Amino acid sequence: VKSDAGWNFDNSYSKLPEFFFATQDLNPVSSPKLVVLNKPVALSLGLDVQSLQSEESVNVFAGNQVPEGGLPLAQAYAGHQFAHFNMLGDGRALLLGEQITPKNERFDVQLKGSGRTPYSRGGDGRAALGPMLREYIISEAMHALKIPTTRSLAVVTTGEQIQRETRLPGAVMTRIAASHIRVGTFQYVSRWGSVNELQELADYTIQRHYPEIELNDPNRYLSLLQGVIKRQASLIIKWQLVGFIHGVMNTDNMTISGETIDYGPCAFMDAYDPATVFSSIDLRGRYAYGNQPKMAGWNLARFAETLLPLLHDDQEKALEIAQDAISEYPIIYVDNWIAGMRRKLGIFNEEEQDKSLIDELLEIMEKYKADYTNTFRALSYGNQDELPLFTSTEFKQWEKQWQERLSRQPESKEASLQLMRDNNPIVIPRNHRVEEALEAAVENGDYSVMEKLLKALSNPFIETNEQINYCTLPPDPDRPYQTFCGT
Ligand code: AMP
Ligand code: MG
Ligand code: MG
Repeated sequence: VKSDAGWNFDNSYSKLPEFFFATQDLNPVSSPKLVVLNKPVALSLGLDVQSLQSEESVNVFAGNQVPEGGLPLAQAYAGHQFAHFNMLGDGRALLLGEQITPKNERFDVQLKGSGRTPYSRGGDGRAALGPMLREYIISEAMHALKIPTTRSLAVVTTGEQIQRETRLPGAVMTRIAASHIRVGTFQYVSRWGSVNELQELADYTIQRHYPEIELNDPNRYLSLLQGVIKRQASLIIKWQLVGFIHGVMNTDNMTISGETIDYGPCAFMDAYDPATVFSSIDLRGRYAYGNQPKMAGWNLARFAETLLPLLHDDQEKALEIAQDAISEYPIIYVDNWIAGMRRKLGIFNEEEQDKSLIDELLEIMEKYKADYTNTFRALSYGNQDELPLFTSTEFKQWEKQWQERLSRQPESKEASLQLMRDNNPIVIPRNHRVEEALEAAVENGDYSVMEKLLKALSNPFIETNEQINYCTLPPDPDRPYQTFCGT
């Protein structure tokens, strides 16, 4: 039965063994107020935008009231956090249910910041307004950049303060995801569950995210592993191509669906440097920009390990099967990354030397600390005089090779430029712009700066005068930018 707001819940996750979750009572807050509502997401979910602004809906978004058909639960999972294995779980989140959309798609509806659960450990289960708005902004940017991602439907303030280093306004965000099944969910069942429970989770995951794998496929769990490897490779490549740094690629933050999840300490790279790290806790650069592909491979190997009991009765053979699948990852990664870089450079066909052409450009960019996004923007729109890189002899030599390379393909120069413009965003959520929007919203309750930023981010491939406003570097580009997780 649909509610007035349009909630149309199914609760398939709650039908898995209880081992996988804890049903949870709500932890109400004193005076919730809706501060952001994502209308396009609401519409695609089949929800009624008007009704989502009612007092009843705001209470749903705040975790004060269960929506019709919802069944709040906290999901159990484990994870390698900076390589250390821990029991985790939703410590500040609640799955309300799965919204079945008018197109018959299924999306998790999850509250984040909704209070303590059995998995909260020492935490308060709450979230601060700034980080929830930050997740909202960056996940919307990712979506517009055509990168698979969870999205935010709404953010409400709770009317309560939470204690961090200082006291901060509390908030609850409603997150929409293909699902919240993580590598860490498999690690949890692998470590503490039975093989039956593992198989139930794997079958559930296949049905939900890889329905093309047939029930009677004798290698269906290998197909699952291969499917996850492919989707994760494709995802990480998309991150690399736009300079996105996730910041905390722990196995609990890697989805099986292939969506980007958990926008804590993430940020976009300015000057090209593979060693770029923004996260205050990533002291050794484990999740630096240039390490992301390798770390995804490490996480995928952890995922493969969890599947061993399902891959073959003989565990030695199972290990071989898993290793063979995992050894494909770097190949899939590099091939598809080169394909993506070709598009960024307007190249349609393949030549053996393309990889070195690409690598040379990146080397020059690193040497001249060239802004990653603006370099490709300049190559695509011809305004090259803005960056020191472009006056260097190295670049001029490289450019000559690149132009020759372009002339060795049948496509016209115009077609090349169009390909580049379709693949090189000009607007990314630049750190100083995000901070400015958050400050106005959190300090002054002024959401107009954020609204304008969101509008620009929604059209990242268009170079209008208004958009160009969002291409400028911070006033002091060398000032280190730091991000934080868990606030
Ligand atoms: P993250 O670093 O965001 O992936 O979070 C890692 C783990 O810490 C997850 O299990 C979260 O649920 C948990 N967590 C983060 N913040 C809090 C909090 N304020 N209260 C309780 N648990 C939290
Ligand atoms: Mg997480
Ligand atoms: Mg987080």
